[in-house]
Amino acid sequence: MPVLTTMRSAAFGLALCVGTAVPLQPGLAQTESEQAGPATDFDIALSNIILILHHEIGHALIDQFALPVIGQEEDAVDAFATLMVLETYDDPAPILLDSAAMWFAFDRIFKADGGEHAYYGEHDLDIQRAYRILCIAHGYDPDSYAEEARKRAIPDERLETCEYDAELALDSWDVLLEDALRDSDKPQGMVSVELKPSDDFDDLRIGLEDSGVLADIAEWIDTHYNWPNPVMLEAAECGEVNAFYDPQDVKITMCYEMVDELLVVAETLDR
Ligand SMILES: [Zn+2]
Repeated sequence: MPVLTTMRSAAFGLALCVGTAVPLQPGLAQTESEQAGPATDFDIALSNIILILHHEIGHALIDQFALPVIGQEEDAVDAFATLMVLETYDDPAPILLDSAAMWFAFDRIFKADGGEHAYYGEHDLDIQRAYRILCIAHGYDPDSYAEEARKRAIPDERLETCEYDAELALDSWDVLLEDALRDSDKPQGMVSVELKPSDDFDDLRIGLEDSGVLADIAEWIDTHYNWPNPVMLEAAECGEVNAFYDPQDVKITMCYEMVDELLVVAETLDR
């Protein structure tokens, strides 16, 4: 199963933008809702790519701004990614529901394959990551996620504490990112994007390029964070199903193999 490891790991950066005029990130969520039809496999993969990229951006922020992390960094950046989508997309629900569904599916497939959980891992289990997305999303905006929370049998008592979890994570990221934020509506020119050629995954490269997802996210983080070093957002063939942040090169990589895996699993989801 994909683990979204980081070569070192680093952070989240909540855009303190609650209620401010933060530009919304265009995205597939909007495409999905406008279509009014069922999401395509590629829509679902894109939802997950958005969340995964924000997870890695969380790692990059922790690293680049030397942010303190209390507890497991992977959990912190999972929360960051969910909150960033909630804060900056005008229709976050499809992105987060597709992402939670994907993690539930990873868990289902893992169990069906007879996999044994690595309880010592740096990441929580896939199913816990699925529930964390729903918990934080419900805590932030109960109305939009109540149906899914019921479907996944999250008890009311837990949903109440999810509200606290979401508020605490949001407030904490706001404090942490205070010094990292830029007061500008134009990109600084510190974040670049590269979709590397690949013989095996050229169709995925073209699909990603056409979606504009990397470029949109790069522009947003280039505009809103005062990066001390140039940051690269790339899509590349990695030889493994993964996405990661490399602190050496200050580079976030989304592997085509990961995108391919998301498409394969998307096919198995109910919609
Ligand atoms: Zn990570």
